[in-house]
Amino acid sequence: MKLVRYGNPGAEKPGLIDAQGVLRDLSKAVKDIGPDQLSDEALAKIAQLDTAKLPAVKGSPRLGCPVNGVRKFIAIGLNYSDHAAESNMPIPAEPIVFMKATSCIQGPNDPVMLPKGSKKTDWEVELGVVIGKRARYVSQKEALSHVAGYCTIDDVSEREYQLERGSQWDKGKGCDTFGPIGPWLVTRDEITNPQKLAMWLDVNGVRMQTGNTKTMIFSVAKIVSYLSQFMTLEPGDVITTGTPPGVGLGMKPNPVFLKKGDVVTLGIEGLGEQRQEVVAFKL
Ligand code: ZN
Repeated sequence: MKLVRYGNPGAEKPGLIDAQGVLRDLSKAVKDIGPDQLSDEALAKIAQLDTAKLPAVKGSPRLGCPVNGVRKFIAIGLNYSDHAAESNMPIPAEPIVFMKATSCIQGPNDPVMLPKGSKKTDWEVELGVVIGKRARYVSQKEALSHVAGYCTIDDVSEREYQLERGSQWDKGKGCDTFGPIGPWLVTRDEITNPQKLAMWLDVNGVRMQTGNTKTMIFSVAKIVSYLSQFMTLEPGDVITTGTPPGVGLGMKPNPVFLKKGDVVTLGIEGLGEQRQEVVAFKL
């Protein structure tokens, strides 16, 4: 299933995209798409609905983040060997973990706002993983059964804040609008192998990133298992799993960063596409 939340920010309604690509309203069936709707049992109930009988939504409403109530937004750094190389960083022996502030989460097509004075705002297409069942000390073998589904994420990053302002990365990762998620939460039954998904990102129509989750250093199963040794993963937690090569910081001969008016488009095979216009800072 492809689950969505549509409508104005803060007032999104639950919906799904049917087999014909039609957006249908789910508000009669569920209150929202959030932690309480992500267990295997709750998702099975939605899957049993006769989609043809759900009301079709007119027009093309804005889409919000497809999961409400995200309590943790966890990210993995340098998880593609070719991206580690372009960043002139060694391949990590263990997953690099950092947190994105949940206040940066927004819809997949909402504008990305440059932080005040920012000169080094950058893009990163990433596979997002949404937890469906609490995970504590889970093995790699059982890890994927704790996943509700997958989504496209742009891990927007301010490189000066990330790399030149102290010892950890979080300052450059959680600015407002730096977490576009969606368009859909695609349930895990539709993604038979999360390690075989093509991904791409364009800036102003020019291809910047081309990758595939098959070149991840640490697989989704490994990441979920690994994180669950350090923190309890709760339903609705989102993990963004690292980016392939082609970020602005890695451009030769000189890095390229986003400026007002740029348009970023990105997508992952089976998980849908995003489009963000870059706008100037505004309080
Ligand atoms: Zn990233």
